[in-house]
Amino acid sequence: MESDFGAQLLDHLQSGVILLDDRGRILAWNQWMARHSRLTLSEVSAKRLDELFPEVRHTRLEDAIEQALRFRLSSMLAPGLNAAILPLDHQPGDRRLARRMQPLVYVTPMRHEPYACLIQIQDMTATVRREHRLRAQSTQLIATTYRDALTGVGNRRRLDHDLAVAFSTAQKNRSSLALLMIDIDDFKAYNDSLGHLKGDDCLILVAKALQEGLRLRGDCVSRYGGEEFALPLPETDRDMACAIAERLRLLIEGLDLPHAASRVGTRVTVSIGVTAMIPGPEQSPSDLLGLADRALYRAKDAGRNCCFFNGPERDALPAWS
Ligand code: GH3
Ligand code: MG
Ligand code: MG
Repeated sequence: MESDFGAQLLDHLQSGVILLDDRGRILAWNQWMARHSRLTLSEVSAKRLDELFPEVRHTRLEDAIEQALRFRLSSMLAPGLNAAILPLDHQPGDRRLARRMQPLVYVTPMRHEPYACLIQIQDMTATVRREHRLRAQSTQLIATTYRDALTGVGNRRRLDHDLAVAFSTAQKNRSSLALLMIDIDDFKAYNDSLGHLKGDDCLILVAKALQEGLRLRGDCVSRYGGEEFALPLPETDRDMACAIAERLRLLIEGLDLPHAASRVGTRVTVSIGVTAMIPGPEQSPSDLLGLADRALYRAKDAGRNCCFFNGPERDALPAWS
């Protein structure tokens, strides 16, 4: 540097400073750079950055330096996008990749002989990590917001969301949307005979079996409330919805969970209300919920452990008719 004061100032900065001449050779390299690169000024002097760090070749940093030297253009290289573009240590003394610095780099042209380009580097590692942590936490929080705490399947909010999205897609595409309402038979008696905790276990097993049974299709079952589950099925017509409902009914029966207090049999069973429609512009998701709910009542009336279909254009029918 020209003056002692200038040199001292650079060495006291809490950020990296590199000065290049018009051919990209290093003229100044402050203490911060020496600490974080473990290379002293005498080791780097008159070298180009890409000679010191071959990984800089063909990166945006190399482009930025070129643009500053040839066209006098400034650049800012944000961390993340240019993750660990320079092999600098976040914690000096530790060169493991995990400790690599996430730098924010400013490249600025200079017109002060012999200096042609100024590179400033700030350590953004802590900020980037905090951002990653916050993003992970917020993803987790969103997942929790849409998950039923007891069973792990979707909750009512998830159902409302899925149904609203599926409904407007079906309206737009004029495609059929089906909805299943699945209710455990005589569940009050299950609780009364085995206790609420066993009841909770049963809810968990039923929910998991339903979700597992839908894994291949990728549909999401949600807990509508109590011992009732709902399942929107996009692009599914009456016949397909009834076939899926019957498969799920058999799946739950096949779990063979003892239910001695059931009026239907000796195991846990479900009744399923099925509906399907191509929704018109004047209809809403609550129309679909209403139809499925009425179908479920009919299934209960018909003796439970069965599926019933109720569509907008016809009377309720047993799902297998
Ligand atoms: P139906 O066959 O007509 O559906 O009869 P049901 O006994 O299943 O229906 P009802 O609506 O009379 O009873 C539902 C029961 O579900 C009552 C309630 O104690 C139980 N229940 C609701 N939520 C939970 C829960 O989170 N855990 C447990 N263990 N039981 C629950
Ligand atoms: Mg019930
Ligand atoms: Mg119920």
